[in-house]
Amino acid sequence: MSRAEPLSSEAATPAIRVEHLTVSYGPVPALLDVSFSIPTGQLVGVIGPNGSGKSTLIKTLLGFLDPDFGSIKLFGQSLEQTRGRIAYVPQRGAVDWDFPITVREVVLMGRYGHVPWYRNLSAEDRRIAMESLELVRMSDFADRQIGQLSGGQQQRVFMARAMAQGGDILLLDEPFAGVDAATEHAILDVLVQTKRKGKTLVVVHHDLSTAARYFDSLLLIKQRLFAHGPPDRVLDSRLLSEVYEGRLLALASDSDAASPSPATTVSDEEAGS
Ligand code: ADP
Ligand code: MG
Repeated sequence: MSRAEPLSSEAATPAIRVEHLTVSYGPVPALLDVSFSIPTGQLVGVIGPNGSGKSTLIKTLLGFLDPDFGSIKLFGQSLEQTRGRIAYVPQRGAVDWDFPITVREVVLMGRYGHVPWYRNLSAEDRRIAMESLELVRMSDFADRQIGQLSGGQQQRVFMARAMAQGGDILLLDEPFAGVDAATEHAILDVLVQTKRKGKTLVVVHHDLSTAARYFDSLLLIKQRLFAHGPPDRVLDSRLLSEVYEGRLLALASDSDAASPSPATTVSDEEAGS
């Protein structure tokens, strides 16, 4: 921007503010006393070993789970007040792919939140849905059954659905898990384009070797928040070995953002938990 503009109160308020968040399914909390805030327009990665509470964090931000304790504010408002400003791309294992529905219909589902019960989807809704499919380069597949697509293609369709919702915050749970290199590029491209439009994105990610290249900042969690900050600070080998407890086969040696680092893998299977 060429001239200094006074910040509106919304611009100064973080997109997401989480304070002392504790969430549990049973006696042991999945998340314990987690606090952080994320400014508007950031692309944020959430990392941590299997079962560390990453999906729980996403589901709680969506209002699917009730916290035991703590608060969540989106743009300074409660989740109730901000319904419709947040869109979600679920973890792939969480979707029934045999459901008989076309790609176009999946993306149109993203528009229903905008349509009152007494009217049908408009031409505008259809245009927005097709535009979103275009963005993820899946327009040619609009009339296919979702179950007939490859995993990476399905992932892109679900991204298009989230884009069609038009939310200001996008939450994605492991969008890069098990996709081919072309899809990985397509997804990353959409994330970056979406960020440029001023949206805030929170992405669960388990590949530490790409985390430094993809994200503005990282949240490292294992029940508690271990670190939050720029990737070069969070991808610290001592911090990671503490959190991953030897399950890390190779550390992103110096988290060099410019060059591809050697394969960094986690020894246990990240099989759609
Ligand atoms: P991550 O996404 O980091 O792999 P999750 O948030 O899915 O981790 O899980 C965090 C912890 O909560 C794990 O110990 C997991 O077993 C437990 N958990 C997750 N979902 C449920 C559930 N529906 N019922 C009971 N325990 C759950
Ligand atoms: Mg998960």
